[in-house]
Amino acid sequence: MTKKQATHIVEELIKMYPDAKCSLDFQNEFELLVAVILSAQCTDERVNKTTPTIFKVCHTPEEFANIDIKKLEELLHPCGFYHNKAKNIKAMANILVEKYHGKVPHTMEELQSLPGVGRKTANVVMLEAFHNPQGIAVDTHCKRIANRIGFSKKAEPEKIEQDLLQLIPKKYYQEVNHIFIWHGRNTCTARNPKCEECKLNKECKYYQEQA
Ligand code: SF4
Repeated sequence: MTKKQATHIVEELIKMYPDAKCSLDFQNEFELLVAVILSAQCTDERVNKTTPTIFKVCHTPEEFANIDIKKLEELLHPCGFYHNKAKNIKAMANILVEKYHGKVPHTMEELQSLPGVGRKTANVVMLEAFHNPQGIAVDTHCKRIANRIGFSKKAEPEKIEQDLLQLIPKKYYQEVNHIFIWHGRNTCTARNPKCEECKLNKECKYYQEQA
C-alpha cells in the first residue's frame, strides 16, 4: 500500500465516523490511566460500569497506593484479571506518589516505565489526557483492520503500529486512534464483517481476495 492510498482510506473512515471518540469515561488523567489499564482483555462498556464504584471508594493516587490489595481486587473484579490489575494499579499509584508528586507523567517513556502500562496504554493516555498523540494504539480492532485492509501484514501490535506510522500522515494520528476502533465495532467486525455495505470494499485486500 502507498501513502496516498493509506491517506485516502483514512479520510474515507473519518467521513464514515465523524463522531468517533474514546469510549472510556474519565474525569482526569489519573482516572483515564486506571480505566485504560482495566480495559485490557475487557470491554470499555464493562470498565465504564465498574469505575464509578471504584472511584467512590478510592480516587487519588495516594488512596490507590494505600488501599488494601484485597479490597482493591474486590473492586476491580468485574473487569477480569483482577489479581494482576490490582497489583499493577497499586504499584503504579505508588510510583506516581513517590516519583511524580501524584501526577501522571507526560512522556511515552515515563508512562511505559509504569507497571501495567505498555505502548498501547501510553498512546491512549498521550492522546486523550494530554492531546499530544505520539503514535497509534493498536488494539484488537486496529490489528484486525490493519491486516484486512492491507496496511500491515504483521501480527505483533508494535510492528503493526510502525507500519501504520510509515503510511499515515501525523495530522491524522488522533482520528486514526478512534476510527479503526469504530469501524471494527460497527462494520469490520471479527466475525461476519459487513463487507457488502462497507465503503472501503474496493480498496480492501481481504474483500478483494474473497471476490
Ligand atoms: S471490506 Fe470487509 S474486511 Fe474490508 S474493511 Fe470493509 S468490512 Fe472490513
